[in-house]
Amino acid sequence: MGEMAAPTRNLISVEEAQGLILEHVEPLPAEAVSLRDARGRVLADPATAAVDLPPFDSSAMDGFALRSVDTPGRLPVAHRIAAGSPAPRELEAGEAMGIATGGVVPPGADAVIPLEDVVDNDNTIEVAERVDPGANVRPAGGDMHRGDVVVERGARLGAPQLAALAAAGRPQVAVAPRPRAAVVATGSELRPPGEPLLPGQIYEANSILLEAQLVSAGAEVQRLASVADEEEAHREALARGLEADVLVTSGGVSVGPHDLVRAILGELGVEEVFWGVSVKPGKPISFGVSGRRLVFGLPGNPVSVLVGFELFVRPALLALQGFRDPLPLFERGALGASLKRNPGRDELVRARLAIGPEGSIVEPLAGRESHMIARAAGADALILVARGEGELSAGEPVDYLRL
Ligand code: AMP
Ligand code: MG
Repeated sequence: MGEMAAPTRNLISVEEAQGLILEHVEPLPAEAVSLRDARGRVLADPATAAVDLPPFDSSAMDGFALRSVDTPGRLPVAHRIAAGSPAPRELEAGEAMGIATGGVVPPGADAVIPLEDVVDNDNTIEVAERVDPGANVRPAGGDMHRGDVVVERGARLGAPQLAALAAAGRPQVAVAPRPRAAVVATGSELRPPGEPLLPGQIYEANSILLEAQLVSAGAEVQRLASVADEEEAHREALARGLEADVLVTSGGVSVGPHDLVRAILGELGVEEVFWGVSVKPGKPISFGVSGRRLVFGLPGNPVSVLVGFELFVRPALLALQGFRDPLPLFERGALGASLKRNPGRDELVRARLAIGPEGSIVEPLAGRESHMIARAAGADALILVARGEGELSAGEPVDYLRL
């Protein structure tokens, strides 16, 4: 019974546990990858522009390049400049050149007048009004100069960052590799969904949960077959799991006679850093290291896995990948219904988030027990109920974490 068994002494706080975990993370050495493979990953070095952006004075409109001092007036059209071609020659006094959006503004010209603002007759344009110098010209380097930093080290490469890097002429960037993670679910009662359940068996839910969470945190995941509560089966699976950068197990970390994970990890050379955090659910979580490998032993109740992963495992994965702020980002919202506090432990309560004109409201879901994973299907947030006496009342501001 995962929740009950860890002793109440020696429990460390969530913050202490997170601090200890991050202390033991050594970011993975960076690798060069194509922009495409860099999607969602974290930049290891600042990326600079290979060129001025734009690389040349370019036209912001389809129109005519000219000298502003020649306007208003009638100007013969000397050339038509398409995007992608160099300027044919310098623009001379008293003439204009047709130019496409993105075309090179020829030397000598200092402005572009849009097509729709002129009368174009017989290769001569009539410009009725004065055109300001610089009008509709995008100056070279106006967006960024060659050598300027386009994306800072530690930034996550989403769509805008990738587009900026491509425009700045960077086909490759240095990013942290995806951490390799292994998942081992333990428990003799576990059966894969789809197979018939024999008496005493339940369907195995944690490894699919962990795989989804690990992938969303940037890991490459190997999900090993779940193991029975037998030493030899544990030894074999955990030894394989220890080939990864991060091993996450579920179940078997309490004090029952069938809880074997910590002892076998110890045999395999894992140094335990802590065991037991004052949090609900997920108290008997263990964390250890083997060299630079990180090992998380999460308790078996699926809600403990859900919560323990978000509080402890995700930050470690993000830190391995060089994220600047790996800890969970809690947001502020109004509590939708009153909630009793737990006197001894911080509690994370599954909730439904509604964002309305008055801001976010987080509605706690019924069923707070850690085995009630089916109730998690309606959850998109976790409310942090700080330990204490009494209750939080509806409408009170609370911290919540999006799932
Ligand atoms: P344990 O931490 O091994 O004592 O397990 C605590 C509870 O979680 C028990 O009721 C287990 O049957 C259940 N449990 C353990 N592993 C899983 C799993 N992979 N999927 C679903 N339930 C599990
Ligand atoms: Mg078990």
